[in-house]
Amino acid sequence: MILFKFLFQIYIIFEMKNIILCFKHDVSMAQKSEDGWTRVSLPKSLTDKIRQMLEEEGVEYNSISSFIQDAVRRRLEELEKIRLVGEEYNLDEKEVKRMAEFEHVNIAENNGKTIIAIKDNSDGHIYDVYLSKDARGRAKMFCEGDKSFDCVHVKYVYFILLPKLNKLIEEYKKKRRE
Ligand SMILES: [Zn+2]
Repeated sequence: MILFKFLFQIYIIFEMKNIILCFKHDVSMAQKSEDGWTRVSLPKSLTDKIRQMLEEEGVEYNSISSFIQDAVRRRLEELEKIRLVGEEYNLDEKEVKRMAEFEHVNIAENNGKTIIAIKDNSDGHIYDVYLSKDARGRAKMFCEGDKSFDCVHVKYVYFILLPKLNKLIEEYKKKRRE
């Protein structure tokens, strides 16, 4: 159930990306008001999903608005993180921009392999990344689509996804110990 909640939250957060793009490209969507708030329109299908999740899963948010604020904040933090990681590891600027378009869509087991699926919005394809062995027999992440150990999808898994997963696993273990 925890994993389901986590994946659902990830899904909602990535949906939020489209909303942030709306902010960028269609400011007219947002109506300015004088009380320090800006109102935006969201697809009803999305707010229905959020409402359903808050009701059924008992996730602790006071309102849809507070949930959306949290999701948008997380997405902004993630974009900032991608930028910082790019600087820290001297990644190619084009690759960093491309990473901002990635959606982590799923983690699945197949023939004993744990596969991380990434949807790359720059070409619309889904790239499977999993642990494999390189020519020298060293365990490394491998991108099936690019047949590569160091393409932009592998870097995304190493630098953006894995630190996040490690943190979640730590929190999970901590909770179990309590
Ligand atoms: Zn790749």
